Formats: sequence, C-alpha cells, structure tokens
Amino acid sequence: MEKIILIKYGELTTKKSNRNQFIKKLNNNILKQINDLNLEIKYDQSRMFIYVSEAHLDEVVERLNKVFGIHGIVICHPVDNNIESIKEKTLEILKNEKFNTFKIVTKRSDKAYPIKSNDVNNIIGGFILKNLECKVDVHNPDIYVNIEIRRDKTFIYTKEINGIGGYPVGIEGKGLLMLSGGIDSPVAGYLALKRGVDLECLYFESPPHTSLLAKEKVIKLASILNEYSKNIKIHIIPFTKLQEEIYKNIDDTYMITILRRMMYRIAFKVAKKRNCKVIINGESIGQVASQTLTSMNVINSVTNYPIIRPVACLDKLEIINIAKKIGTYETSILPYEDCCTIFVPRHPVINPDINKAVSFEQLIDYETLINECINNMETITITNKSEFEDLL
Ligand code: ATP
Ligand code: MG
Repeated sequence: MEKIILIKYGELTTKKSNRNQFIKKLNNNILKQINDLNLEIKYDQSRMFIYVSEAHLDEVVERLNKVFGIHGIVICHPVDNNIESIKEKTLEILKNEKFNTFKIVTKRSDKAYPIKSNDVNNIIGGFILKNLECKVDVHNPDIYVNIEIRRDKTFIYTKEINGIGGYPVGIEGKGLLMLSGGIDSPVAGYLALKRGVDLECLYFESPPHTSLLAKEKVIKLASILNEYSKNIKIHIIPFTKLQEEIYKNIDDTYMITILRRMMYRIAFKVAKKRNCKVIINGESIGQVASQTLTSMNVINSVTNYPIIRPVACLDKLEIINIAKKIGTYETSILPYEDCCTIFVPRHPVINPDINKAVSFEQLIDYETLINECINNMETITITNKSEFEDLL
C-alpha cells in the first residue's frame, strides 16, 4: 500500500527571504539520497511529500535521517477528503496502536473545507469512542492523531520521527576541512555539514613516517562524512620534505608551531584554489600546546582567511559522544601515526612568541616547499561509500 512521507523543514521556515533556495537545495539533496528508488517527490513552501510503497518505507526513512535540513519525518496515511473516509481510516490506524487515551488534532490547510477543524475533532473523536475501548485526554494523551486536510487529500498520522535538523548541505557553499585521522576533525566536519557547509577535505601525509594505513583511515573517515553529502573530495598533500626541513632546522620547542603555520599557509592556498569560503579544523581550546589561545593566535596569523573551529568549545568527552553517534569514533581510534604525532618534541612551547616564530621559519625556504606540496597534491573523490569499503 502506498504511504506518504511528509517532511517538515523546521528551522528553514524562519529564513523567509531565502526560503525557495533552501527548499530547492533540500529537494536536490533528498533526490541525491534516494534517486535510485525512483520515487515521486512534491513540495510546497512548508512541506515536502515523498510517495513511497510500504516495502521501501524503512529504507527511505533511514536515508532521510542522513539529510540535513529535515526536522521532522512523518509517515502519513493518505485518504480522500470525505469525512466518512477519514473516520474509517482513523479507526483502521488506531486499531493497530496500543493506547488508553487519545487526542485528535485537525488542521485544515484547505480553508474551503466545509467542516471546521474543531468539528472534525469532535466527529472523529466521537466515532473512535464508539468503536474502541478508550478515552479522550486533551492534556496528556497516550497518542495524538493528526489529521491534515489538504485541497486534494487528507493525511492522517500518529507519529513524528525527529530529523537531524540543520541546513541543507551546500546552501552555504563549500569549506575546506583539515581532516586528520583523529577524533576531533571528523566531528568538526560533521558539524559544519550540519550548518549547510559542503566539504572538501585536506590531508597532510608524511610517508614513510606515516603509513598507507593512516591515509586509508582518513579516506574511510571522509567516506563516513560523505553519507551526509555526495562526492566529497580529499586533497592529499605530500608533506614529508617540508616537515623534515622543519625538524632539521628549527628549534625543538617551536617545531609544532611552525609546522602548523605551514599547514595553515597550504590550507589557505588550497581553499582559494578550490573555491572554499572557509577553512574548518578540529582544534579545541587548550587541548594541546598548539591549541592554547596564544598558540592559536600565532599559528592563525599567517592568514586572514576565515577559519572555523566547530569543536573549539567542546570538552573531549562531548566530542567523543558525537563521534560515536555519527560512526567515526571506531575508525578514529585506530592507532596509526599522523604527521602531527611523529617527531613530537618533548617540550613544545605553550605560549609562543610571534617574532620568534617568524625568525625561526626564515631558516627554511618554505615558499618553494609549500608550492611543491601544492603542485604534487593528489585528489581523490569519494563516489560511493560501499565501493570504497571494498578498496580498504
Ligand atoms: P585528536 O582527536 O587526536 O586530537 P586531531 O585530529 O584533533 O586529533 P590535533 O593534533 O589535535 O589532531 O590537530 C588539530 C587539528 O589540526 C585537527 O583537528 C585537524 O583539523 C588538523 N590536522 C592535524 N593533523 C592533520 C593532518 N595530518 N592533515 C590535516 N589536518 C590535520
Ligand atoms: Mg585534537
């Protein structure tokens, strides 16, 4: 039997001026998730409707749960507008539910409908009371029966599933996510996607100091993020030469500061080249020496490009909880080296001095090395999660 999934936009509806653009984007993103199922989708200013057979219902709901911009998913039983049909359908639905008390809530989006909402409540409520062992409770019912009377059809539903919220991915353009194999950066990427920022990823690798397994881990993390977007690209920067120059020439205490200044310089160039409007990373205030506010200041000062740090103010445990929820945690804790965890100095500076940082980095010809990194950048596009899993 055919069902209709009704999608509620939630926060979108507050964005009056951009509403059409938002709804179109959401519609496109939904299509990308379910286009292989060939389902009919219609939408208006406040709702979207997907016509789906019972057999596909669970699959579609699961996929919709990966689409940002959806605030509520409601499985509706469609029926014609005749009050007798509404009565029979409501009874049929409630016969399959366990409850003692109920409340009917009718909404007429078609104001020309001849029976007022309150009267529909009374007519349907009375019919249910006559046919089933139950009571009405208008304050705290076990079950709400929603009846939405529209111009062409009436939708009846009892349950609403929460969507994942946020804005449709891509509505804010693209950001460049500095993606390491750690716990924090995939979570940062997820939170940016949630606010409508589509992602390209940037990964610094230092073979042979970092292994192929570390790179595959990052690809796997990107493919998990790709479930919320489509065709995410990962740009892989060969960082070995620049990193070795830093370790050979720069004072131990400033190695990480300079390393991260180089990462930011490269990220800025790649972001501009790839038309990403912002750089995103997983830094969290105070987590390590390079993430004290003084360190962040000295590191950040190589660029005035906007950088967002979605997990900056979260505790590690809060970040871990999100990582577990989105399914990146198990991959993130695999024990492969990252370029930031090799040759770690014993006493990295906690409050670096900008002048010292600038004078230290004069010891290496970093402009040439940075250009080399970018010229040798490799790009991978994630097309389909399952295809990728076979490769890993
Ligand atoms: P952890 O969860 O272990 O803290 P992390 O990914 O946060 O891992 P940090 O050393 O704290 O690692 O680095 C801070 C941020 O710098 C990361 O969140 C990430 O955005 C960026 N970063 C670090 N290493 C890399 C790398 N190899 N490639 C790309 N970005 C990186
Ligand atoms: Mg971190």
